[in-house]
Amino acid sequence: MKTPFNLILVGPPGAGKGTQAKRLQDRYGLCQISTGDMLRAEVNSGSLIGQQARAIMESGGLVSDEIVIAMLESRVQQPDCARGFILDGFPRTARQAAALDAMLAHLGLRLDAVIELKVDEAVLIDRISGRFTCAKCGAGYHDTYKPTRVAGVCDVCGGSEFKRRADDNRETMVARLAAYRADTAPILPHYAAQGRLYAVDGMADMDHVAGAIELLLG
Ligand code: AMP
Repeated sequence: MKTPFNLILVGPPGAGKGTQAKRLQDRYGLCQISTGDMLRAEVNSGSLIGQQARAIMESGGLVSDEIVIAMLESRVQQPDCARGFILDGFPRTARQAAALDAMLAHLGLRLDAVIELKVDEAVLIDRISGRFTCAKCGAGYHDTYKPTRVAGVCDVCGGSEFKRRADDNRETMVARLAAYRADTAPILPHYAAQGRLYAVDGMADMDHVAGAIELLLG
């Protein structure tokens, strides 16, 4: 793969975007830009943006385009993105997609690929409602599919504190899926028309999904 390489990972919540973005970051030195992670950091810091975003995120709705577009614009220009970036959770609306096109043109950057992780919605609620992460190192787990080897101890760093996202519950998940269907899925034809959209089966285990993405990226 020739760098800089800029790509978008798209798919409904729970499709595995975050997991795959982290792997691509480690493998190719690209920077992972997760607007969800950035917003959660704002909420945790108690900033004005965080205060505005908190209730929306807990209800499963979308934070305003202005806020996320401004956050993204400064992030893509940071030095760790010099080899390229992986957008995880952005764009989520037609307005965000248009703003991204304009931003990339303005910065003289190119979008190389949009990878859609295709998943069966029925399994997503199950996947999401059981997930948790190590509070210390961020390693991801699942109550049923990927428990820690020793109960209560992180496999990676030995930490014993774990956290769950406030919006990883069945009720919020229904709203997040509805937002994906209504606002995000309709932007995919825009990328298909540009010949940049590739679909990957997100139902396979994560090593297979990673392999399929790497094959696509060459
Ligand atoms: P995620 O971690 O990508 O699942 O995002 C968690 C929540 O943050 C979403 O349900 C939205 O409320 C908000 N969010 C993240 N990215 C965006 C975005 N690009 N546009 C609007 N809201 C977003």
